[in-house]
Amino acid sequence: MSVRQPLQVTAIPAFADNYLWLIHNHQHAAVVDPGDAVPVEAALAQLDLTLDAILLTHHHRDHAGGVAALTAAREIPVYGPARESIAGVTIPLSEGDGVSLPSLAMTLSILDVPGHTAGHIAYVGHEQHWLFCGDTLFAGGCGRLFEGTPAQMTQSLAKLAALPDNTAVYCAHEYTLSNLRFALAAEPGNAELTARYAQAQQQRAEGKATVPSTIGLEKQTNPFLRYRQPALIAQLQSDNRLEGDDPVAAFAALREWKNGYR
Ligand SMILES: [Zn+2]
Repeated sequence: MSVRQPLQVTAIPAFADNYLWLIHNHQHAAVVDPGDAVPVEAALAQLDLTLDAILLTHHHRDHAGGVAALTAAREIPVYGPARESIAGVTIPLSEGDGVSLPSLAMTLSILDVPGHTAGHIAYVGHEQHWLFCGDTLFAGGCGRLFEGTPAQMTQSLAKLAALPDNTAVYCAHEYTLSNLRFALAAEPGNAELTARYAQAQQQRAEGKATVPSTIGLEKQTNPFLRYRQPALIAQLQSDNRLEGDDPVAAFAALREWKNGYR
């Protein structure tokens, strides 16, 4: 009787700062947001894996650009957001749907998380405590609002923040250091944030990824989950970026500030 190998998630670095996520059990694999097929094929060959499914969070090319090449010689399902039209998607998904990956003996459930794009979805492995959130929540930050409103994004981020604290956040970019620099400007008195920044600097100096992070850590240190905190609101007000204390206005002011922050 063969021993079933545990599921794991392997990062495939791509482009300048993307992570494509490979979920596998040392035999079978599913890939999340394959923006480029070349490093995915290399990882599959190196780890001797059969690719059984593709999972897309949104339509941007650095997330979906590898689909055509990966499916050219494979008959595999391509899951993607129902509210976006992405070439190659065979199974459109929206909140409440589930994805069953029989060869990996796992299921993922879908959350609608519009904001970065209009139809962005996230995949949650409740049993594993895994979240694949594309460009919605980042380590220390959140995605730019290309197609959605601040109100939508706050609702989307609230769904992710409601997941258990030990949920691993597999976001799609290594933006952590610049995100945390901004976070410190927005909330300089946050001791957990100061400690996290020091740790992230160390990890990057050693050439390590700073992701996945966890929902618990994001709730403690990510200004885009902390825009209701009095200290953060006070900072926005004293910089003349916010009048009053409406949470969505505070979130919008924070996002606006980050857009121009260097
Ligand atoms: Zn994107």
